[in-house]
Amino acid sequence: MVSPEQSLLIEKIKQLKKEKNVTLLAHYYMPPAIQLLEKDGGIADFTGDSLGLSLFARDAKAERILFCGVRFMAETAALLNPNAPIFMAAPEAGCSLASSITAEDVRQLKAQYPGVPVMGYINTYAETKCELDICCTSRNALEIARSIPSDKIIFVPDYYMGQNLAEVIKRETGKELILWKGTCEVHEQFKNEMFTSDPEADILLHWEVPNQLVKEQLDARKGVLGSTNDILSYVKRSKSEKFLLASECDLAFTLKAANPDKEFLTPCVHCKYMKETTLLGIVNALNAIGSDEEQAFLIQLDEATRERAIKPVERMLEFV
Ligand code: SF4
Repeated sequence: MVSPEQSLLIEKIKQLKKEKNVTLLAHYYMPPAIQLLEKDGGIADFTGDSLGLSLFARDAKAERILFCGVRFMAETAALLNPNAPIFMAAPEAGCSLASSITAEDVRQLKAQYPGVPVMGYINTYAETKCELDICCTSRNALEIARSIPSDKIIFVPDYYMGQNLAEVIKRETGKELILWKGTCEVHEQFKNEMFTSDPEADILLHWEVPNQLVKEQLDARKGVLGSTNDILSYVKRSKSEKFLLASECDLAFTLKAANPDKEFLTPCVHCKYMKETTLLGIVNALNAIGSDEEQAFLIQLDEATRERAIKPVERMLEFV
């Protein structure tokens, strides 16, 4: 439900986007008023998961892009599309996973395990990406891990996603994953006690939730473990009418919009970093674009970082 104040801001954003020729990208974890597409009465030109947003940014012919998500995602967009300036309404919006590992941490891991390839989740800052052999997103992590020609792979930074992946990879290929201790402070909160109701409902589990929850839930009921995209595809295919969601709360809005006849229940854990982007913040960023103040909202990477950080991302994109 959009308030009168929000309606005014939405109208202002649409007007400024047009005036300044800005394409607005929004992650699925953005609040509903931001992730709704402009053609459906909202403000976004494209809404997606991190891989979808990266690909859209790479191929966009936009003059300017305003990225509504967190900083590592906007950095990836800037790596992939050096021709369009990338702005953020909340340029300091972080991520507990991205902050859990530095470039120096990766160098130390490489020294500890010489010759072992490093596969890094896209949820890392550009400086850390410089040290990775290949990136992955939750959508292609399994396929990339299968393809790496090594008995051992270092996977950073998400420990729980690593545990969930490691089980599948070990079973399928015998390969071992060496893990880092980073966690997503949203997905790590999901516990089995939150999902004991509605035994007939299917469970939707993101890769980043604890492995113990995955085991207990998939023993007890039908469901899926995967990326946001896997969750969306599973719900579309499923004959079930009710689903329990173990992922960021606002993904329930995306799921409901795509499946209005189905029901979604969630303990509703929000990502505080994603919620740093607000309608008012977007208006402020759009007002600044084209003026001396725009630097405060611009994502800038130095050329040396860009040259190195793009390589693991490009290797990942060979799998798309
Ligand atoms: S949901 Fe988790 S992984 Fe995503 S931005 Fe928030 S803290 Fe980072």
